[in-house]
Amino acid sequence: MSSLILEPINKLKGVGNETADVLAEMGIFTIKDLIWTFPYRHEDFRLKDLTETPHNEKVTVEARIESEPAVLYLGKKSRITVKALVGRHLIKLVFFNQNYLRGKLSPETVVTVSGKWDRGRQVINVTTIKIGPKTDNVDFEPVYSLKGNMHQNKFRKLMRQALDLSEGEMEETLPLHLLEKYRLIPIIEALEGVHFPVDANHAKQARRRFVYEELLHFQLRIQALRKMHKENEKGITIHYDIHKLKNFISTIPFELTNAQKRVVNEICKDLKEPVRMNRLLQGDVGSGKTVVAAIGLYAAVTAGYQGALMAPTEILAEQHAISLKALLEPLGVRLALLSGSTKSKNRREILKQLHNGDIDILIGTHALIQPDVVFENLGFVITDEQHRFGVEQRRILRDKGANPDVLFMTATPIPRTLAITAFGEMDVSIIDELPAGRKQIETHWLKKEQLNACLGKMELELRQGRQAYVICPLIEESEKIDAQNAEEVFVQLSTVFKGKYKVDLMHGRLHPDDKDRVMREFTEGKIDVLVSTTVVEVGVNVPNASYMVIYDADRFGLAQLHQLRGRVGRGKFQSYCILLADPKTEDGTERMMSMTQIHDGFRLAEKDLELRGPGDFFGKKQSGLPDFKMADLVHDYRTLEVARQDAATLIYENVFWKDSEYKYLREMLEESGALNGERID
Ligand code: ADP
Ligand code: MG
Repeated sequence: MSSLILEPINKLKGVGNETADVLAEMGIFTIKDLIWTFPYRHEDFRLKDLTETPHNEKVTVEARIESEPAVLYLGKKSRITVKALVGRHLIKLVFFNQNYLRGKLSPETVVTVSGKWDRGRQVINVTTIKIGPKTDNVDFEPVYSLKGNMHQNKFRKLMRQALDLSEGEMEETLPLHLLEKYRLIPIIEALEGVHFPVDANHAKQARRRFVYEELLHFQLRIQALRKMHKENEKGITIHYDIHKLKNFISTIPFELTNAQKRVVNEICKDLKEPVRMNRLLQGDVGSGKTVVAAIGLYAAVTAGYQGALMAPTEILAEQHAISLKALLEPLGVRLALLSGSTKSKNRREILKQLHNGDIDILIGTHALIQPDVVFENLGFVITDEQHRFGVEQRRILRDKGANPDVLFMTATPIPRTLAITAFGEMDVSIIDELPAGRKQIETHWLKKEQLNACLGKMELELRQGRQAYVICPLIEESEKIDAQNAEEVFVQLSTVFKGKYKVDLMHGRLHPDDKDRVMREFTEGKIDVLVSTTVVEVGVNVPNASYMVIYDADRFGLAQLHQLRGRVGRGKFQSYCILLADPKTEDGTERMMSMTQIHDGFRLAEKDLELRGPGDFFGKKQSGLPDFKMADLVHDYRTLEVARQDAATLIYENVFWKDSEYKYLREMLEESGALNGERID
């Protein structure tokens, strides 16, 4: 890159201290930063034919005013209405809070206006107006996300200056053969197309280029990491005892599904090989990941190694401990559970045995990554619901062994686009099949006023000895959020079922001892109805529970609803999930419909991604998803696949590491830290 564009931003005319401060707030310090600040959308100012414009779509038209403006004041707000002729169409133009226009809108004036077209009422709600016909040929105007008192016009002027200054020295950043292969426009033309497109196609071609470039950069970093893992990280070879393993599998009270068998094989193959396993195991709720984990851990134990399983919550860790002990203790495997609430005497004993090698498998929460937790010989690490842990936490656990094999498990089905983005450097195993005989969970969406019907049905289930979950978005009453709270529902249901069924309450703010008690009693069937927040979302396994009510279900995303729903239907009983919701948005309505219709977690995940976008998909920012400037993981899925393949090819070619054509990409890789094995979070 030329040196000029690396100059500080105040080299530009019109940038004083004040402007520089505002730009700094936007992360712009150099001319280069400015040029690489892309608009988040383009305003389309092409003239459109009203008869062909659908309802609610934005239009730009030339109109001739046909009446005196009528002004209506509503408190501080105002509304101006005028009749206007567009072609041969008589329509109305409405201006909200643009009182200053009053004097300008006299009959016979020609104006160019943009706004939403209300087809039914034949009204344009005007947002932009220019007095006079559309003389300029600005069809597309970029709109930037700005801070402080920066304005679009001023920003565009600075951008123009920056581009003019740098044009002579801008070097091409993509290799020629890729530009040619995909017919991408060169860098200068593309930057112009982003900031000052001459027409729609120019803007589109510019976007196409930068989407590809951005995804290529991203995939190069991932592929470089992947290559490095494979070549440099000598893993351990776990020579497990195949006879013991087969014997164990034959004692499991059910036949593994084909998907489980396939995944077990993939895991065992990794264990055996000297390469360090770095594998993501995805399986929908109830697909049977626990038993797969048990087989993998047992394999490591038969080879003389220790295993660890880390889960994000105490409930989940305990549940795993119970399941794994039931499966593995009969084989003489020594397991222990370590969590924040393990008493210190017990803890000391566990740590001692762990260090001596007297414990084979340690199960627990974040408690596992504390510094004094020392293994004798850790060979295999499993992290459950791994996206709930930070990268650092996962690394610490891994470092407690000498290059142990690592398996990440998740019950959140991740759409492929996101999977190869967020976890692109991993191998992926998928359990895409549920054990036979599972009944589909009947899912219904009811209005909140239909609560009684819902409770009636619940009582029928309880009478047959089943148990129920009632999920609320909030713990206690909130002034700010209008949603049902668990404490109130708990009181209500306790009254309704008084003397008949035991109702109890579960939420994140209970004392750990109380949480334990409640979960244990619910698992043992001593509690009939569990009113809870989403703390029961992952992993909880109570096969006798057949009924779930979710209050204000429209407040949750699809992935989360699916997880919640997965708490029922885990046994042999027909199960039900009732969504109580009066959604106020279209999006909310669509989510409710999707839940009643779609039962496959992966399909719901795709839907979720479509409705909410990738940023929200994982909920938190620990997802490992980078912020893309241009690319959109939902729509640019194909480009992502192409970039992934190109990156994988480039990384393994000698020319890539030598030829000057790739200099820019190499520099990018070096700067990113990927070549030193740093993850891109
Ligand atoms: P998840 O993948 O959600 O963690 P679990 O491992 O908790 O699922 O399994 C859900 C339930 O299904 C458990 O009760 C488990 O014993 C049972 N299960 C797992 N695999 C099979 C199978 N192949 N056949 C029948 N039941 C199975
Ligand atoms: Mg599980």
